[in-house]
Amino acid sequence: MKFGGSSLASAEKFNHVVALIEQQQQPVAAVFSAPQGITNDLVTLIELINQQQNLTSQLDLISQKLLTISADCVALRADFDSSKSQQQTAGLLDQLRHLAQGCELIGFCPEITAAQILSSGEKFSTLLMATLLRTKSPVTVLDPRLFIHTDSDVNDTVADLPRCQQEFNKHYQAITDISVMPGFYGVNHSGDLVTLGRNGSDYSAAILAVCVDAESCEIWTDVDGIYSVDPHLVPETQLIEQMSYQEAMELSYFGAKILHPKTITPLANQQIKCVIKNTHNPDHHGTTITTETAKHKAVKAISNLSDVVMINVSGPGMKGMVGMAARVFATMSEAQISVILISQSSSEYSISFCVPGDEATKAVRRLEKTFKLELKNGLLEPIQRRNNLAIITLIGDQMHQQKGTASRFFSALSHARVNIIAIAQDSSERSISAVVRAKRVDDAVVICHQQLFLKKPRIDAFLIGCGTVGRELIAQIKKQQEWLQQKNIELNLIGIANSRQCLLEADGVDLEHWQEQLTDSETSFSLSKLADFVRTAHITNPVIIDCTSNQGIAMDYLSYLEHNFHVVTANKKANTDTLSYYHQLHQMAAKRQRRFLYETNVGAGLPVIDNLQSLLRAGDELIQFEGILSGSLSYIFGEIHQGLSLSEATKKARDLGYTEPNPAEDLNGMDVARKVLVIAREAGMALELNDVDLQAVVPPALAEITDGDAFMQQLPAYDQEFQQKIDQAENQQQKLRYVAIIKNGKCAVKIQAVDKTHPLYDIEAGENALAINTQYYQPKPFIIRGYGAGAEVTAAGLFGDMLRTLAWEQEY
Ligand code: ADP
Ligand code: ASP
Ligand code: MG
Repeated sequence: MKFGGSSLASAEKFNHVVALIEQQQQPVAAVFSAPQGITNDLVTLIELINQQQNLTSQLDLISQKLLTISADCVALRADFDSSKSQQQTAGLLDQLRHLAQGCELIGFCPEITAAQILSSGEKFSTLLMATLLRTKSPVTVLDPRLFIHTDSDVNDTVADLPRCQQEFNKHYQAITDISVMPGFYGVNHSGDLVTLGRNGSDYSAAILAVCVDAESCEIWTDVDGIYSVDPHLVPETQLIEQMSYQEAMELSYFGAKILHPKTITPLANQQIKCVIKNTHNPDHHGTTITTETAKHKAVKAISNLSDVVMINVSGPGMKGMVGMAARVFATMSEAQISVILISQSSSEYSISFCVPGDEATKAVRRLEKTFKLELKNGLLEPIQRRNNLAIITLIGDQMHQQKGTASRFFSALSHARVNIIAIAQDSSERSISAVVRAKRVDDAVVICHQQLFLKKPRIDAFLIGCGTVGRELIAQIKKQQEWLQQKNIELNLIGIANSRQCLLEADGVDLEHWQEQLTDSETSFSLSKLADFVRTAHITNPVIIDCTSNQGIAMDYLSYLEHNFHVVTANKKANTDTLSYYHQLHQMAAKRQRRFLYETNVGAGLPVIDNLQSLLRAGDELIQFEGILSGSLSYIFGEIHQGLSLSEATKKARDLGYTEPNPAEDLNGMDVARKVLVIAREAGMALELNDVDLQAVVPPALAEITDGDAFMQQLPAYDQEFQQKIDQAENQQQKLRYVAIIKNGKCAVKIQAVDKTHPLYDIEAGENALAINTQYYQPKPFIIRGYGAGAEVTAAGLFGDMLRTLAWEQEY
């Protein structure tokens, strides 16, 4: 049984571990790490020594932590010999102080002394555990210095297992009752104490398991077992109940901290079962590692290894030269640097490989020495290093039997907009790795987990503006939760903002009580705040949904796209700003592979833009367009032909809430002009808003009134003049329609009289209609007709656009 630092963080935890050991069938051996955080504190102490700084406070901190744990044990076990324990701790701390002071005098910490300092935590844990256990049973303390022999003189190397077994047998023969041993260290050829590397107590346990020919080696930690990914990064991950030695080896090798990478090899050689168990949940069966694997899943796990540097050796001298690779890697091996991953281009012009970040400088220096001549003669280019990288790896024994894993892996990475720097797959196809920038590796793990395990596409939506349309959209999101679940889509509303406040919730805002929560929120909203939030919460598919008509927000779309948000908008201000901004938005969306969707800009929920885009993609061309694009004007013009005057019809529409609070904003035709401009630009026409030939329904003097009530008061004065137009049309069996037209490269918006044969003759009562003539649709246009305004249809359009963000790969 090996207990990690997380199982030994306090006196209570020590006591809990004592109970776990006592419950075991004997003989049992237990290996201990340092109490949580102590090794890090010792590392800091060594750094302070090397920086020639004052050590007092760091030494005090360590003393205080260890003395507290051992003193607290008194209260937990009545029969515990506290004076002995305090004495032992004090002795250990004295030794530590002496070592540190010795180093202080010489101004640095030699490696051998560093190893002694670092091992203090494990020694403490073991002494304390032995004292605690002895209250009930006899305990043997095993000294790793007597038998854990490593195969070289440096820290962090491998154990010489046959020798370990031999020495163990010499000193201990078999174990009886309870044996305890400090993890993390052994001795080198010269008999000096050396560490097995950070996290090395797992390895100590494996070595001991081999020496005593254990039935199993249990690694007791703070999680229920090995998960598909680090559960601290992705809480909804799945526990792996059974995995093979090979899989566990790859997983730990590629960074999963749960196991030290060297742990598995000795166990696999002796076929000793390894079980990962949770100290805080001992009844859970944990993960069992044997020769068997659960076969139903190809990709078992994803791990990530941070702080990696990629070194590149390249130059004309590489080509066709036999032995270049051998020299590169021999140099690494002589320098005792482990090479994590290799990739070579088929032109043989370069070899790239990854090494741990802290070895990179040494690696480059040694290569420069090896290839001194080649570098001097220009046969090699200067050795390059690329810092701050990480490796993400998929692991699974069954991967070779499944096609498409790599493709899903890389597509997931590209979905998260993570750039792949290098790729490597082992030939047994048990693991496949990609080198990425360290900054993005957490996002990469999250999205790969989503796409390879949950297989649940996810949208994280942020809503700006919660007027009638925004509110309706939230209601639809709530209403559709069940449907989304059936379709296996996770639609998460991560935030809502109005012009003053903002609500942010990574797990999704409460769709029931969002209104109260938003009112209570004291956070204001800004792009940078949202971008920070998305980054820290590792949200990989964020979408902003703009339900405002705000110019400022529309001008932020470019930055949103640049920050990898999809943009879904009902706001027409962006698409009808300058043509250059319109192009910039589309280019940025393409560059970032994000979607910029605005189906609701024209005809609310009617499928206008998407249809038009599909036709144009299929080589069609817009020849002519005619349409009624304003629901309010459609209603007003319908009423006019029912006998109402212009002002009466407008009042009726206004009372029903079909117009803007100030109907001048409808009757000035601007909104229609914007819509027709969006269509024209979609069809590839290079037009600006003031190129649209706009004739308002009412004369400028009326159209420019800014107050709704004042406008309504003055409108009747225009009735008579307008009535003449109506009469004239009706006399010729025509009806007046407020239409938008695209013809001969020009846009116009005006009142037009249409007769019975015209597609827009029947359109009234708030409907929109669009008659689109294209190369493919002529002479008869293709017609889209239906309610083109209203909260429900607009929200439905936004909902549709939101779902389309999932298929961003299809955007061209
Ligand atoms: P200990 O102190 O017991 O040695 P560690 O912190 O070294 O514990 O290792 C346990 C931690 O490993 C877990 O808390 C978890 O965050 C991390 N971890 C990384 N990858 C995985 C994984 N795939 N499954 C489970 N835990 C993992
Ligand atoms: N205490 C050591 C470390 O923190 C060894 C271990 O915990 O496995 O690295
Ligand atoms: Mg550990």
